[in-house]
Amino acid sequence: MRIAFLDRDGTIVEDYKDELWSDVTEPVFLDGTIEGLKKIKQKGYEIIIITNQYLIDEEIISIEKYQSFTNKFLKILKDNGIQILDIFYCPHSRKGSCSCMKPKDGLVKMALEKYPEIDLEDCFIVGDSLCDVELGERLGIKTFGIGIGKKEGKTVVVDSLENVVRYL
Ligand SMILES: [Mg+2]
Ligand SMILES: [Zn+2]
Repeated sequence: MRIAFLDRDGTIVEDYKDELWSDVTEPVFLDGTIEGLKKIKQKGYEIIIITNQYLIDEEIISIEKYQSFTNKFLKILKDNGIQILDIFYCPHSRKGSCSCMKPKDGLVKMALEKYPEIDLEDCFIVGDSLCDVELGERLGIKTFGIGIGKKEGKTVVVDSLENVVRYL
């Protein structure tokens, strides 16, 4: 099974400054994202979201709020005919030392444990932060940075999720 490991905030939906997230209740999908997700699935990839949500443990948003946002997010995607295989999130504070906060590979490891049929070599990752790009390069998989790359890495810099499709 081939997976598109996708960041959520700033990649699929609008991102905000940390302190503003406490007022956010509705996901705002970025332009072209719905089309992009459809095309990624048409290319034969399942979608797994991997997202750092340190705002939970840092008490800017509650776990209930995270879950309600996630339910709305999934409902909108479902209404558009897009099924997400799974979501793995890191709720831990930046002050801690968990093993799942990107660029650490814990979230991807959880996915591999839950879905042993994943062929990691055939997967790719997309994100808009350095942590996403670093994780992709650490895993040695195809890595797309939305508006971000690394000097000496192999990351392909794109301007949106939809534009990833042309490289698949
Ligand atoms: Mg992001
Ligand atoms: Zn964590």
